Amino acid sequence: MRIRVDEIPDSGRFLHLHWGQEKLRQYLAQDDPFELDLLRPVNVDLEISKKMDHIHVTGSVKGSLQVACHRCLKSFPWALDEAVDVVLVEEERLPDDEEIELDADELELEIFDGLAIEVDRLIAEQIFLALPYKVLCSETCKGICPGCGVNLNDETCTCKQDENKSAFSVLKAIKARLPDS
Ligand SMILES: [Zn+2]
Ligand SMILES: [Zn+2]
Repeated sequence: MRIRVDEIPDSGRFLHLHWGQEKLRQYLAQDDPFELDLLRPVNVDLEISKKMDHIHVTGSVKGSLQVACHRCLKSFPWALDEAVDVVLVEEERLPDDEEIELDADELELEIFDGLAIEVDRLIAEQIFLALPYKVLCSETCKGICPGCGVNLNDETCTCKQDENKSAFSVLKAIKARLPDS
């Protein structure tokens, strides 16, 4: 979905969307490490305001996602509830560095062509930003046994006593694949 800037009324434009998996799929990497799935369409509420030299988008994206734990690879539901606050600026209108530094923490600045807002991409980015760097099913997730591959949250495996050795062989295997320095 594209919204043309010249079609945004001065009073702003409000969007309420149910944003589904087929939209998300266009923005997922082929080997998406999160194995992201939307359990139901994301509820998107956006207000798009036209300012003198930028477009300000505020609102929220809320939903329920299915993600894969980075440690044990098991899928689990993850609640998405992200506030949206994005400023879209044309490249030539970018404020100079000093101005950006002032509130770089709060400000999410994006460059766009000044003509149209790619709403779907903006929503996808907000979802990716909301995800933690490392998605874990639980802080105490024990992960997968490097020796036999069982999920250690569900099972104890027989190679448990060789844990150190197994971890070492994994390291060795990784090292073997690295080019000689
Ligand atoms: Zn896990
Ligand atoms: Zn094992």
